[in-house]
Amino acid sequence: MTDSSVNPITPDGEIPAHSGEPLVVLENVNKHFGALHVLKDIDVTVHRGEVMVVIGPSGSGKSTLCRAINRLEPIDSGSITLDGVALPDEGKALARLRADVGMVFQSFNLFAHKTILENVTLGPIKVKRMKPATAKKRAMELLDRVGVANQAEKLPAQLSGGQQQRVAIARALAMEPKVLLFDEPTSALDPEMVNEVLDTMVGLAKEGMTMVVVTHEMGFARKAADRVIFMADGQIVEEADPETFFTNPQSHRAQDFLGKIL
Ligand code: ADP
Ligand code: MG
Repeated sequence: MTDSSVNPITPDGEIPAHSGEPLVVLENVNKHFGALHVLKDIDVTVHRGEVMVVIGPSGSGKSTLCRAINRLEPIDSGSITLDGVALPDEGKALARLRADVGMVFQSFNLFAHKTILENVTLGPIKVKRMKPATAKKRAMELLDRVGVANQAEKLPAQLSGGQQQRVAIARALAMEPKVLLFDEPTSALDPEMVNEVLDTMVGLAKEGMTMVVVTHEMGFARKAADRVIFMADGQIVEEADPETFFTNPQSHRAQDFLGKIL
């Protein structure tokens, strides 16, 4: 990462504390699907360099929250600002802002008919107008960083799920996003591949990447999260540091939920 928004790793290799500067700010965000109120007055701020883990039962609005942050899903009311700029509803300005928000999905979503290398160079060439040679060089560095450089010429289907998800992370990083959103990035993986993806994410956290991570992986949350938010029924019910949240959840909803997944 050469982006100035990224904090250096501290000398002892600890995950740096975030700078405290607001990067993604949601104020009073509401979203309905028909009669269903899926995001209810959401107020949340993600600070530069912060890792925010989002947990909560299925259907609580976690994916919708992520999708709202990069406007894959329009909101009904409230505001979302990224680095001080309000997310526009559409047009070129939206495309530009959206490039600042990387997203990694549960199902990898790689382009099946393009090579691993092409998957990573496509965005920088098309959206950022990067020279192909430059995009390729950077893509190879990123693939190396996530440990799959030797797979560059293959097609996604030739890789394991864990490798594909690491390519998806490299592809998101290639756009030099200000924030990376992960929506249950390990839940479609075979158990033996979960750690290789989580380790990659812990590495990013250590480098100071700002991340919003929907996951129930408590090992990851304990290692990398600055903050956990617990959602239920479209609301943020509880917000705490991971240790406090997992050992001493305050709300009945969180206690009940943790009782089921632990
Ligand atoms: P989570 O990610 O926490 O499981 P979601 O954000 O996917 O929750 O969904 C929240 C609620 O919104 C659920 O009740 C879900 O069925 C509903 N929902 C999500 N997407 C749509 C959609 N495109 N159309 C209608 N309802 C949706
Ligand atoms: Mg979801």
